[in-house]
Amino acid sequence: MSPLVRWSRPDTGALFVVTGASGSGKTTLLREAFEVIPDLAFSVSATTRDMRQGEVDGRDYHFVQPDRFDELLAEDALLEWARVYDNRYGTPRRPVVDALARGQSIVLDIDAQGAAQVRESFPQCVSVFILPASIDVLETRLRARGTDSDAIIRRRMDQVHEQIGACGSFDYLVVNDDLATAHRTFQAVFLAELQRRSRRPSLVDRFANVS
Ligand code: 5GP
Repeated sequence: MSPLVRWSRPDTGALFVVTGASGSGKTTLLREAFEVIPDLAFSVSATTRDMRQGEVDGRDYHFVQPDRFDELLAEDALLEWARVYDNRYGTPRRPVVDALARGQSIVLDIDAQGAAQVRESFPQCVSVFILPASIDVLETRLRARGTDSDAIIRRRMDQVHEQIGACGSFDYLVVNDDLATAHRTFQAVFLAELQRRSRRPSLVDRFANVS
């Protein structure tokens, strides 16, 4: 995918919150959106979970020990946080506040509990929920991986129900049935939000205020 060129940058960035149950294709959709849409920053979360193969500390996550996570909470350094499976995840507040102050857009890839907290502190955020074609599709995918026991799959499916049950609080729902369509719809949300007149006062000055 080639990036958009001759991009007319908005004056004010947006805070995007992207949520979806595991297996919904959220990571794939996000990866292409970052390639195509200029000026999007990714919020790197802190997590207590172990690093997976291929992940890079500081790029995918800030991998921290549980006591460091406790410190971050005590310092009020996290904009939101949640326990997902057996680990804790949180969004460092500073980079988000700084990006928005610079007029840059920033994307948070977080779970539904975290999204609810962000909505509280930043009601102007734009939240997007990625839905699968059906819940059965997710279960079939989890089983097809063949890596998890029945008990783990059941636990993950409980989480899936919990996450998907929150979709009614999000601004946009993107159904990932056909991947090509999902990419286009997902990117359309970002592109449309960034063209909002309220983010583009300098364009209004240039074109609407000429006499
Ligand atoms: P994973 O361990 O597979 O990378 O992520 C598990 C889940 O944690 C995903 O749904 C992801 O969106 C969520 N997550 C990642 N970072 C954060 C965060 O900073 N806050 C919250 N609330 N959830 C997060």
